[in-house]
Amino acid sequence: MNNKVLVIGGGPAGLTAAQTLASDNEEVVLVERGDTLGGMARELTCKGISECRNCGVCFAIDRAAEIIRMPGVEVMLRSEVVSIDKKEDGFRAKIRSSPRYVTKSCIGCDKCSQVCPVDGKAIFAPCGSGHPRTHWIERGKCLHFRKQKCEKCAEVCPTNAINYDDRVKNVSRNISSVILATGLDPIDAREIPRLGYGHITDVVSSVDAERILNEKGRMVRPSDGTSPKKIAVIQCVGSRNEKTGVEYCSKFCCKYGTKIAQLIIEGDPDTDLDFYFMDLRTLYEPQDDFKKWANDMKRKVEKKKVPRVRLIRSMPSQAFLGDDGRIWLRTSDETDSEITETPYDLVILSVGMRPRAPPDLLARSLDLAMDGCGFVRCENPKEGARVIVLGAASEPMDIEETVTRAMAAAADVARKGGSA
Ligand SMILES: Cc1cc2nc3c(=O)[nH]c(=O)nc-3n(C[C@H](O)[C@H](O)[C@H](O)COP(=O)(O)OP(=O)(O)OC[C@H]3O[C@@H](n4cnc5c(N)ncnc54)[C@H](O)[C@@H]3O)c2cc1C
Ligand code: SF4
Ligand code: SF4
Ligand code: SF4
Repeated sequence: MNNKVLVIGGGPAGLTAAQTLASDNEEVVLVERGDTLGGMARELTCKGISECRNCGVCFAIDRAAEIIRMPGVEVMLRSEVVSIDKKEDGFRAKIRSSPRYVTKSCIGCDKCSQVCPVDGKAIFAPCGSGHPRTHWIERGKCLHFRKQKCEKCAEVCPTNAINYDDRVKNVSRNISSVILATGLDPIDAREIPRLGYGHITDVVSSVDAERILNEKGRMVRPSDGTSPKKIAVIQCVGSRNEKTGVEYCSKFCCKYGTKIAQLIIEGDPDTDLDFYFMDLRTLYEPQDDFKKWANDMKRKVEKKKVPRVRLIRSMPSQAFLGDDGRIWLRTSDETDSEITETPYDLVILSVGMRPRAPPDLLARSLDLAMDGCGFVRCENPKEGARVIVLGAASEPMDIEETVTRAMAAAADVARKGGSA
């Protein structure tokens, strides 16, 4: 029997599982529906300035770069598992891959995108900092596939990487086990309209904040590109909230929220920051470290030292635009006895997570079920298939926990020879 292990999802969980299995000489088929590997970590920023803050982001990105070259791992990008069926000698997975129209010889020079005449472009670099860095063409926008027959990108490409003849590929692989690592969706901050996301430009979600920090290396206001001088970070946005249906604690947002605050403050000595929270759950890290750091951040004003970072145990009830163009937050104080309104230049909403439901076809193929919170379970795997759910698909977890658990689970699969 050909005992390849099918790993679905190329985020920190899937990457770690694939790497652990391949290091144990198991053959792996890694199926990722996005255009690069890295999962959510592709869109996250390194949270260290002068020293590493153990945010785990680089670890995930490095795994993505390594796995592409690892013998024994077949990586399929822009791909989805269509079905998994029982065969005499194990299971057969059918996988469909969408065309990329750019081959592996792409060196990521971006000359193609610079000459592409389409408004908003039709050829793209892969999202975030994932790997591989191979470009791809969006067929629906590309003029080559319309009457204009454009070939501008092919003309400037130094490595002849453009392939307009690329087609959808349907392949089958014999497999013994399935590792499902389809990950998380950040909560859409528009679900909490009172906090202004979606209608006040400089109210951003933590996903936006991560992207801005990643791209610009510092925090800037989306509205005018200036450095905000007073920032609010609001924790627990969407999590622990009956209205959004996410009643659980997302577990990792205190950890990344505190690190984003540190990154901003240490990167710009002119910024002040108010950190609104209900509880500080900084996962494996003492909360006191963050409290001490915040307390140490002081500014000298007329011989007095005043705090630059304030920790406020309260959930703002509303964000609104003032006549002065600033964002005002209405908040009750910690004793609930007084309502205050405070102006800011930028507000960051630390959103939590929802598990990402696997596609129906896959769920039916594997007899997957969702628990009351939407996390994936596989209690009675179809016809004895070995199915392991890993990472944020199974419950909220940060990269460190994801990696630790994925290593242990994959090592167990390898010990059993890839099968049940
Ligand atoms: C704003 C924000 C900031 C964060 N910051 C940090 C931080 O600083 N440190 C930290 O440790 N954690 C952080 N996290 C949490 C971190 O993102 C997760 O712990 C981690 O991404 C979980 O890894 P995963 O592989 O389970 O899921 P994901 O990273 O979501 O990866 C899942 C992968 O599966 C793919 N996929 C989904 N469905 C399918 C399918 N049907 N077929 C094929 N592929 C599929 C997706 O495209 C994706 O690539 C943050 C999260 C958010 C939302
Ligand atoms: S010009 Fe060619 S090599 Fe350069 S990024 Fe575009 S496709 Fe890749
Ligand atoms: S063929 Fe023309 S329209 Fe299509 S991606 Fe290349 S440059 Fe853009
Ligand atoms: S980790 Fe922190 S911010 Fe996230 S839901 Fe839990 S308490 Fe709220």
